[in-house]
Amino acid sequence: MNGYAIQDVVNLLDRKISKQAISQYENGVMKPSAENMLLLCNALGVRPDYFAREVEVRLKDPSYRKLKRLPAKEQEKILQMAVDYLERYLELESLLGEETILKFSLHQYEIKTYEDAERAAEQFRQVMGFGNDPLLNLVERLEEQGIKVVELLVHSDFSGFATVMNDNCPVIVLNTNPDIAVDRKRFTLAHELGHLLLKPVDLDEEKCANRFAGALLIPQDRLREELKAHRNNIHIKELLLLKQQYGISMQAILYRAKDISIISDYLFKEQMKVFSQLGIRKQEPGSFDCEEHSHRFWQLILRGVAEELISTSKAAALCNMKLSAFLDELVKLS
Ligand SMILES: [Zn+2]
Repeated sequence: MNGYAIQDVVNLLDRKISKQAISQYENGVMKPSAENMLLLCNALGVRPDYFAREVEVRLKDPSYRKLKRLPAKEQEKILQMAVDYLERYLELESLLGEETILKFSLHQYEIKTYEDAERAAEQFRQVMGFGNDPLLNLVERLEEQGIKVVELLVHSDFSGFATVMNDNCPVIVLNTNPDIAVDRKRFTLAHELGHLLLKPVDLDEEKCANRFAGALLIPQDRLREELKAHRNNIHIKELLLLKQQYGISMQAILYRAKDISIISDYLFKEQMKVFSQLGIRKQEPGSFDCEEHSHRFWQLILRGVAEELISTSKAAALCNMKLSAFLDELVKLS
């Protein structure tokens, strides 16, 4: 998680533990003494519980094509951060007797055309009771459906990926870096959900996931109500208003308008040129003012502490916090 080599750890510890010893701990040949364990915990920024966890988290080789572009060390760091969080999450759930009930099956929609991806998004919205309205706090809504959303603050060029934990639990890892616009995070979430739900047959998986994502964020019927069935031109500010209402980027709305034939391919290309001319392709104006964050983990912690199902020191360890910092957090009311 820290991206250290063994030698870095030895240096951090001022050589109080030898390189050989650390290597033996790592390989399970030798156990550290209590004193060395504390030194290691301090150097690595983890709590002693970290080394004593009993829950096991196995991540299936994820669809992280985007992650694969990163240097190996960075990939490993992101994966280990996700595993650490999921281990704590599973332990918390088991201490509270909380069972996650998945409300859908993985890859339940067979996709033979891109329109099928569109329909899958509509069906998923209906089954989950989302209706056709804008989806607020998608992270929390997906957690309510039994998906674990791992929110990581990562500074590398990585938006997110989907995977499956311990054979049956869907996981979406999301970069919460504040430099990434909220509408982009939402599109990533919806796109990764597409990877979990869809089973494309002889189709480009990325295109299917994108089509699903767009349709989930703004269903076609709703977009036709907003823009009308056919348009010869669209004012760029119409896209801005829709973005602020639905939390999907202006360019993604334009894509949708083309995909469902509200506008022609020609108009789409012309409008994209306008985005380039205005220099807003990479950074669009406007924002979606809505929180994208799940409170479920923290709710479970608070319930566990209030009902005395877990001690405060255990709760602090599960939050990967020092006890004093955790106790401060407990009394903070804003
Ligand atoms: Zn993808």
